[in-house]
Amino acid sequence: RDLGIEELRYEGEKTSSQIDESTPGIFRDSGKCIKCRRCVEVCQGVESVGAISPQSRGFDTTIGPAFDHPLSEVTCVQCGQCAAVCPVGAITERNYIQQVWDALDDPEKYVVVQTAPAIRSALGEAFGLEPGTPVTGKMVAALKELGFDGVFDTNFTADLTIMEEGSELLSRLTKVLRDGQKQALPQFTSCCPAWINFAEHYYPELLKNLSTCKSPQQMFGAVAKTYYAEKIGVDPAKMVVVSVMPCTAKKFESQREELTDSGYPDVDYVLTTRELARMINQSGILFSLLEDQKMDSPFPESSGAADIFANTGGVMEAAVRTAYKIVTGRNLPTDKMHLKNIMDLEGIKEASLKIEDPVKEWSFLDGAELNVMVIHSLSNVRKVLKEKDISKYHFIEVMSCPGGCISGGGQPRFTDNNIR
Ligand code: SF4
Repeated sequence: RDLGIEELRYEGEKTSSQIDESTPGIFRDSGKCIKCRRCVEVCQGVESVGAISPQSRGFDTTIGPAFDHPLSEVTCVQCGQCAAVCPVGAITERNYIQQVWDALDDPEKYVVVQTAPAIRSALGEAFGLEPGTPVTGKMVAALKELGFDGVFDTNFTADLTIMEEGSELLSRLTKVLRDGQKQALPQFTSCCPAWINFAEHYYPELLKNLSTCKSPQQMFGAVAKTYYAEKIGVDPAKMVVVSVMPCTAKKFESQREELTDSGYPDVDYVLTTRELARMINQSGILFSLLEDQKMDSPFPESSGAADIFANTGGVMEAAVRTAYKIVTGRNLPTDKMHLKNIMDLEGIKEASLKIEDPVKEWSFLDGAELNVMVIHSLSNVRKVLKEKDISKYHFIEVMSCPGGCISGGGQPRFTDNNIR
């Protein structure tokens, strides 16, 4: 007081919050932004999207889309890598926790949940466990405690995706090599919604090359509200499908108008791994003390191919295994795809596989060389399309997040042990 410090009042303009809730996946509160530019670094750099950048305001700078446009009006792909690095929560996922609590509290609703392969080895981090600790059984127990009527595994529909994508690839190859027809090749994977958004924004000429398969999340929603709803005698209008995903782009994907097979949205709400951890904490469950439980029938079974979906190269390896088995009638020898490893963390990987001794109806493929490529991080997609002739490849996997879904924008943030 003697120094008159309390008299020193900041006379400048106070920061005012500018909330952007224009997209289903990402929430921005520019009032919290400390202008560290980590989000800009990933958006411009590793993802090469360019949706947000520093904007000059006289002597001040703000971070966001040009001309203060909302994210829905720029090229944001909703990958959430910005949210994964923001240290203050100025960019984070759109939160659907309250909607899920409301559904669970509604006695008229039958609420089921599906869980993606990438979350079960990451959820434990939100409760202080070592990164990579598998917590599948505890996660299932927690979801049952929260009150879900059915707890299911997205791995089941990851297997469906594999079978469909592998068969679609063979169908395209048959039309080209046996029937002499034109087909869009290489075929690209379609299970990463941020990659789909990126292709729609920047490479619309490649849309015909995308596999026509829905992602595993959307396949599960469609199966739940058609086959499963009928099997258990529940009106799909009263069924609520919740997904727990490592991903913010899945929130956007679930709200696409075209993904409504039962006449209702295939998936109603998508929670990130972080949001599930918050719900578990809100309900007072002591996660580490839970006894393991198993996923519910009728979707508890899946193959090892579905398990590896979460990593870069996983979808490709699984799809090639399937195609090889269909064409030759034999399992792919385990050393084949590892001659050139497509499962490591290089941003761009390639492999070739010679088809030998196919069964009779596939004889036109005898001796054919199947060339595949695996890309993660969207900047690497730009690099490939600029520098390589992709016409020699038959199948290309793209995952937007570095390393694949395991590093998705909705996973526990690595800066601390708590959930933010
Ligand atoms: Fe989502 Fe996986 Fe694609 Fe990342 S890589 S945007 S987590 S689907």
